[in-house]
Formats: sequence, structure tokens, C-alpha cells
Amino acid sequence: MKTISHFIDGKIYSDSKSRKGPIFNPAIGEQIAEVELGTKATVEKAIESSSKAFITWSKTTPINRARILSKYKDLLIKNMEELAVMVSEQHGKTIADAKGSIQRGIEVVEYATGITDSLKGDHSTSVGTNVDSHTLRQPLGVCAGITPFNFPAMVPMWMYPVSIACGNTFVLKPSEKDPSCPMRLAEIAIEAGLPAGVLNVVNGDKEAVDTLLENKTVQAISFVGSTPIAEYVYHTGTKNNKRVQALGGAKNHMVIMPDADVNKTTDAIIGSAFGSAGERCMAISVAVCVGKQTKEKIKTKLLEETAKLNVGPYTDEKSDFGPLNNKAHFEKVLGYIDTGEKEGAKLLSDGRNFKKQGYENGYFVGPTIFDDVKPEMKIYKEEIFGPVLSMMTTETYEEALKLVNDHELGNGAAVFTKSGNIA
Ligand code: NAD
Repeated sequence: MKTISHFIDGKIYSDSKSRKGPIFNPAIGEQIAEVELGTKATVEKAIESSSKAFITWSKTTPINRARILSKYKDLLIKNMEELAVMVSEQHGKTIADAKGSIQRGIEVVEYATGITDSLKGDHSTSVGTNVDSHTLRQPLGVCAGITPFNFPAMVPMWMYPVSIACGNTFVLKPSEKDPSCPMRLAEIAIEAGLPAGVLNVVNGDKEAVDTLLENKTVQAISFVGSTPIAEYVYHTGTKNNKRVQALGGAKNHMVIMPDADVNKTTDAIIGSAFGSAGERCMAISVAVCVGKQTKEKIKTKLLEETAKLNVGPYTDEKSDFGPLNNKAHFEKVLGYIDTGEKEGAKLLSDGRNFKKQGYENGYFVGPTIFDDVKPEMKIYKEEIFGPVLSMMTTETYEEALKLVNDHELGNGAAVFTKSGNIA
């Protein structure tokens, strides 16, 4: 069985004695590889490598750093197909979705190539008698990124391109569920001319994360993942005097006004609620219809369109969305659907018994729609992170807006209307 190790100091580094985690192809529900779960010693090796690389990299001129990133961008585009298959095989999303996410990541690399202008300092004269003041922007040192399973290429690329463009070096700890693409991203960076150690990848779980959070050399941490772990990373990292940004989970609402275009609205719900099997932090998981008539129109069209969706593996070009990423998450999503029924929400479309011929062991859940969802229900309060949409109805726009604003996990909101007359 293939073993995925770590990428340290410009090459693959293996610690064969470490604990291992399984990597699955979620479409077939079978283990296809294993990943080494980095020990404290392995993570420290990566940090030390990045610390050494910082000495030269921080002195490399911004324009030379940008040139390497520009070549990196070109190589990422060239390797798009291979990267997309890596994402789809281990995450489960369709190839089109995988490519879209890699493209978003490449755009960050492209942005980072223009960072030179933002690195300029400032000069103020006479801030006191005979006193002028200079400000300059300096890199921090070794930075680290800890990323989730749902975007194994894009979320890491939110982080390290900007960090290294600014002259920092970076240790990435991607999700242990789909680590192949992040490893390849680091390899391609070397091909683009990035010096060894500027970008290291350590695979692992809590032990690796805790080592990054506690190590004195690491200056700053970016985290993206679930809310409880985001809170843990934020508190532990800041307690250890690091700069920390930590993004957590989400429950995004779409507010549908009585004048909204039914076809366009339905199309948007389908894409945002069920695309990537709902495993997106910006997925719309709640549709709030203003007025009973609005709800009836949307519901009818939504059920009609949902019935046409193709759920299947990434290898089938016709698939609209694929399986959930892993068995534990699959069971959790099924559990939420059971709970919704018990709580009294009306199940309009039930994805629980969905089976794809030839992929009976895959972690597929069909598109699921609940109506009459109430704010006190668990399926409303918590992030489900699956292809499950909750429908709610309010009398007024103000009531709908209150729902959006009161939700603890509100990450973003969309309002569908033709008039645009909303305050
Ligand atoms: P997760 O929190 O389980 O894992 C994220 C990272 O934390 C992984 O690298 C994992 O190895 C590590 N980790 C897990 N448990 C840990 C522990 N006990 N101690 C230390 N580290 C630990 O998240 P996930 O399931 O991989 O990703 C899905 C979540 O990410 C969803 O909640 C989704 O909304 C969120 N997300 C948010 C955004 C955003 O921009 N806000 C973007 C993408 C995903």
C-alpha cells in the first residue's frame, strides 16, 4: 500500500516508525493509501528546516521572491489535471469542482506575485523636533498553516503563497484525510525554484498540531477547520504568544424575497446547497422564504430540479456531486437527517438510502431537503456539512434577517430579489 510521508527540506522525508492513518477513496469506501502521522520530532525537524531557510529567504529581494511565485503559478496551471485527480480521488468532489478550487488557489499565488508594492515602508518627517520616523515591513520568521479536508488545495493556497511572498518560511500541516495534493503542491514549488525549506509539509493529527502551537520558533499560525478546533488552536496559539487567525464552521442562509426569480433562485440553491456534497464553509444550508407563497413556488421547483441531480463518483463526468469524504462524517450526516425527522421537520427529499450501482460502499448521501425547520432544532443550530438543506418561512424580510444575524455560525448570507429594495 502507498505510504504518504512528509515533505521536508526539499524532499520526501519518511519516519516509518510513526503512527499511520488510513486514506480512503470515498467513492468506493476503500482504503487506498496510508499517511504517516508526524511525531513531535518530525514536526520539529520541519520547523528547524524552515528556520534555517528563513535566513536566506528573508533577505531575497521581494521581486526575486515574486518571480519564483510567478513561475510557480505557471507550473500549477500546467499540472492542473494531475492535481485535480489527487483532490477528487481522496476528497470525493467532482473534477470540475476540484479544478475550480485549485483555480481559486492559483489566484492567491497570482495575487502574491504582486505583493512587492504592499511591502513598502513609510516615512514621516518631524514627528517631533528633529525626529523623523520610518516604518518598514519585515517578515516574521517561520509561519504555520493547519488546514481542513474539504479543500486540500485551495485552503493551503490561501496561506503559504502570501506568507512566503512576504519573506516568511512556512510549515503546512494539511488534513490527514487527503494529503496527496498538498505534498505535490510543495514538490512543484521546488520545481519553480523555491529554495528547500521555505515550504515544508508535515502530515499528522493532534500531535503535529500541538507541536506547531507550542514550538517557540513558530511565529504565526493560520487555521481553517471546525469551530471547536479553531477555538482550541486560537487559545493555545495565543497563550504561546503567537499571532493566530482561526476560521471555523458555518451555517449560511439564503433569504428569498417574494419577487425573486424562481428559476435563478432554485439554480443557486442547488449549486450552493448540494455542490461538493455540501462540504463547503460557504454552502447555503438554510433557505429562508419570505411569505408562504414564495416558499410554495420555490419548493415545487426545487424538488423538480433536485430529482434531476446526478450523484456519483468523480470518474463519471455526469456527476453533479460526489460522496462525503469519510465514513465517520457520512454517519454523522445520516444521524443529522434522523434527528431532523425526530425533531419534527418535514423531510421533502431523503438522501439516506441513496445507492449508486457499482459504488454501494461509497459514502454517498443524496440531496436532502427539510421543510418547516425551526430555530430551536439541532439541524438548524449545528453545521451539518453535507447535502442537506433546511427550508424556513418568515412573514417579513426583517424576521428573515433576524434569523441570519442571530445564528451563531452565520458566515455569509445571500438575498434573492428582483427589486433590490432591501434596507
Ligand atoms: P477539523 O477541525 O476536524 O480539522 C481541521 C484541522 O485540524 C486538520 O488539519 C486536523 O488534522 C486538525 N485537527 C483535528 N482535530 C484536532 C485536535 N483535536 N487538535 C488539534 N488539531 C486537530 O475540520 P475538518 O473536518 O477537516 O474540516 C471541516 C470544517 O472546516 C467545517 O467545519 C468547515 O466549515 C470548516 N471550514 C471553514 C472554512 C472557513 O473559511 N471558515 C473553510 C473551509 C472549511
